[in-house]
Amino acid sequence: MTTATASEGAPFLVSLGPGATTLSRDRSEVVTFDLEGRPQTWVVGGRTYKRSLASDVFGRRTVEGVRRRWRVDASDADTHFRHAGQVAAAAERALAEGRLRRAEGAHRWRELSPSEAAELTHRLRSIGRWTPERLVAERQRFLATYQPVSILPPDQYGAVVLQATYGCSWNRCTFCTFYQDRPFQVREPQAFAEHARAVRELLGAAADARDGVFLGDGNALVLSNARLAPLFEVVREVFPERGIASFVDVFGGERKPLSAWRELAELGLDRVTLGLETGSRELLAYLNKPGTPDDAALLVDTLKAAGLAVSVILMVGVGGERFADRHVEESEAVLARLPLAAGDLVYLSPFVVQPGSVYRAQAERDGVRPLAPEARDAQLARLRAAARRAVPAATVALYAIDEFVY
Ligand code: SF4
Repeated sequence: MTTATASEGAPFLVSLGPGATTLSRDRSEVVTFDLEGRPQTWVVGGRTYKRSLASDVFGRRTVEGVRRRWRVDASDADTHFRHAGQVAAAAERALAEGRLRRAEGAHRWRELSPSEAAELTHRLRSIGRWTPERLVAERQRFLATYQPVSILPPDQYGAVVLQATYGCSWNRCTFCTFYQDRPFQVREPQAFAEHARAVRELLGAAADARDGVFLGDGNALVLSNARLAPLFEVVREVFPERGIASFVDVFGGERKPLSAWRELAELGLDRVTLGLETGSRELLAYLNKPGTPDDAALLVDTLKAAGLAVSVILMVGVGGERFADRHVEESEAVLARLPLAAGDLVYLSPFVVQPGSVYRAQAERDGVRPLAPEARDAQLARLRAAARRAVPAATVALYAIDEFVY
């Protein structure tokens, strides 16, 4: 086996990851495929493109420190699909001609072993089956399997999403439009089992790379444990050995005593994401979000006592200038009370005023002006510092809701 460096010229590089195959003809373009052979991401000329399971393609680039994201139109998506096929065909030729190397880091590579070459041949064969037409047809398979997956916490982007319920049982927070398109509905165990098996079929071999299950939609855990237990059983049967995560809201979470949370933890629940949004009682009322910051702190106590990992979301900029001081000060106070620890997450989510939301109309009516960019940056910095001070062991991360692709 030989090892080479960039000084000897750049070969065609491959990475055979446990969950993906990455091909790079030269360092300016990198295409990643899932284990089923479908292109997943493209990095070309400083832009990143990502394909969703429905074969929508989203572009992303950073210009002067500002991230931009856009949906790629159908003809450009087709170009990306064709390009991915061409890169895979070029990899096949490079392999046959002995010009292909396995990446060993940013600037190092080595020859493939015979077993790696055989594995790559197998993977390239799977990739070759995904014509652009077949990729476009994934949309229909997706629509037959899922209702729209509206949002996920960033740590769950790589999870298998299973929709135990549709929508949100409250659906009246003024800022939230995620589930306005559907009434809250609960899936019965048999329908849920069919859904889980259809998801397994849709993901194919790529399911192996998804190491957790996210139970959607907005607040599936509002269901009683008697209703959740058979659904958890389905998850264990169809996607064994994966932890289960879900959103929780104060109004649903506080209905369960500690013993109920412990029971769910035993059934496989390992993380919950709580939309706290703000530590200000007044702002929560303005947002029409049920529960109080005190209730939220008590709920986090209970969740931690049950042995669950907790992610807490605070919004940055919500309530605009009018609520800014209360929002920051009272969120700092709540953060200081939360018993978060290593493995827990605090998400700071830049607030986006959704078109058509009640919040938008209400803010216009009440003269609630959005924060200027500098004030918003300052609020983010202050909340970040407060989160780090209050829970040094927990991870504090940005949660940009428009960057989500499933
Ligand atoms: S923020 Fe959460 S609780 Fe409020 S409407 Fe949206 S999903 Fe429901």
